[in-house]
Amino acid sequence: MSQPTEKKKSLPLHFQILIAMLVGTAIGIAVNPGDDFLTRSVTASLSRDGNSILLQERDSETNDTVYTESFPSASVFADSYPKLAEALGDSDSRELEVTNARARFTYSMSGVQITWQRSHDGVPAVSRLNSPGVDQLPVFWQPIAAEHSSGIASTITTLAKSIGDLFLRLLKMVTVPLILTSLVTGVTGLGSQGRFGRMFGRTIFYYMVTSLLAITIGLILVNLIQPGTGAILPGGGKAIEPASLTLVEILYQQINRLIPTNPFASIAGGEFLSIISFAIMLGMFINFVGGDHGRRLAEIFESAFAVMMRMTAWVISLAPIGVAAFMVYATSTQGLGVFRTLAWYMLTVFLALVFHAVVILPVILRVFAKRNPLEYVRSLSPALLTAFSTASSNATLPLTMNCVEKRAGISNQTSSFVLPLGATINMDGTALYEVVAVLFIAQATPGFDLSVAQQITVALTALIASIGAAGIPHAGLVMMAIVLQAVGLPLEAQGIIIAVDRVLDMCRTSVNVWSDSCGCAVVEAARGKMRPPGVEA
Ligand code: ASP
Repeated sequence: MSQPTEKKKSLPLHFQILIAMLVGTAIGIAVNPGDDFLTRSVTASLSRDGNSILLQERDSETNDTVYTESFPSASVFADSYPKLAEALGDSDSRELEVTNARARFTYSMSGVQITWQRSHDGVPAVSRLNSPGVDQLPVFWQPIAAEHSSGIASTITTLAKSIGDLFLRLLKMVTVPLILTSLVTGVTGLGSQGRFGRMFGRTIFYYMVTSLLAITIGLILVNLIQPGTGAILPGGGKAIEPASLTLVEILYQQINRLIPTNPFASIAGGEFLSIISFAIMLGMFINFVGGDHGRRLAEIFESAFAVMMRMTAWVISLAPIGVAAFMVYATSTQGLGVFRTLAWYMLTVFLALVFHAVVILPVILRVFAKRNPLEYVRSLSPALLTAFSTASSNATLPLTMNCVEKRAGISNQTSSFVLPLGATINMDGTALYEVVAVLFIAQATPGFDLSVAQQITVALTALIASIGAAGIPHAGLVMMAIVLQAVGLPLEAQGIIIAVDRVLDMCRTSVNVWSDSCGCAVVEAARGKMRPPGVEA
């Protein structure tokens, strides 16, 4: 096979990605079908059957089923719909008036999803119906969905999602071998154990300090802007599956992951923390053993790493296509109405994220790493834009590693350690988001006033939740249940903010990746100072 020719691209990658993002957004907005307001009248009823409670919604004319949901006990029902549970009281059944009904259809290769929004006796509720195809939907929905799916808009959305998913698969394909080979090569290159220990300490210190700074900014802005005061949250609507672990359990789980019982299973399962700790140990023991054996193995990993970097570079060259596809999907599937309701909340999260990313992290970069923030952000831009469009730090990791090493000139020893660990446990954007979202919910919950002590509890639990959150889309939302629980807020209040989570997830993921990247420069600079003169990094 001939060597691929390294032709100079006319347009730098970050511009290509930026243009792809804009084009994708424009197409997505153009084909956004908006919400369908249902003109058919729907009736709803609650009834008790033994311990369980049944919510039934039917077409008033034909009696076709629109939606049913069964709750195994009164307390489960009260958790999901507290206001309706109050209204039902001890009675056996109750009719509910359904108003403001609208549905949004989202199509993908795996089927159709209906986001079904309506009010029961004035209490807003959101439910989701999933089906492998239009034909498998309840009869009521079939004609409505068929009309919807016949348009060019749904074809474009489905296609965009599929292309985006292929790009994600490529990124995921290179991630685990890249982390493993890169980290082993990095640790063997460090040589002494002492150097590794110092780098470890500095990295964790940087993660903690920047996450706490992000949380503080979130706390200040949410108290200043007060987006939740006066906001009306739905009393109904299902919360997402809560992460039912205590804080200590989360920390313990993360520590457990550091010791994989079967490293091969962890590699196969893509468990980042386990892979990281095993690769570090492997690198260290290669150095301990040294001699011919150590050298041979170190060289094998070095060669494998070089090949993985080349493969990653190829995947990255496809980023503009993947990014455009994701932007089409993200913008064409978001209900626009909800943005108005939650504008202040979104603005608060956004402003806090921007302040952290544009003021705090660049100052740290300038002072501690002596780097020009503008140049650094330009080097990192392909990774940051990909983080934005995929909303996943893990998926972006190969790009981040490539940008930090090839474009920003950071050594592999630093980046191979700081970045994979950062993608897993350092999430400034997520920590900040948790704080703003939970305080927003607290402000919007009548009679709920968070004292300073409780706000500190929110801050600390948010930090742990961000450490526990995986670098995948919506992970922060799942972990939020822990923060809500810590101060006794209702989980169902999450119902409404789920609707705008994707957009905020895109923003916070970029901040997560930006913080990891700045961490590389800071740790690299500190290592530089420690290096005796004349010794190579
Ligand atoms: N999507 C974020 C990330 O990958 C995590 C989150 O949901 O906050 O970094």
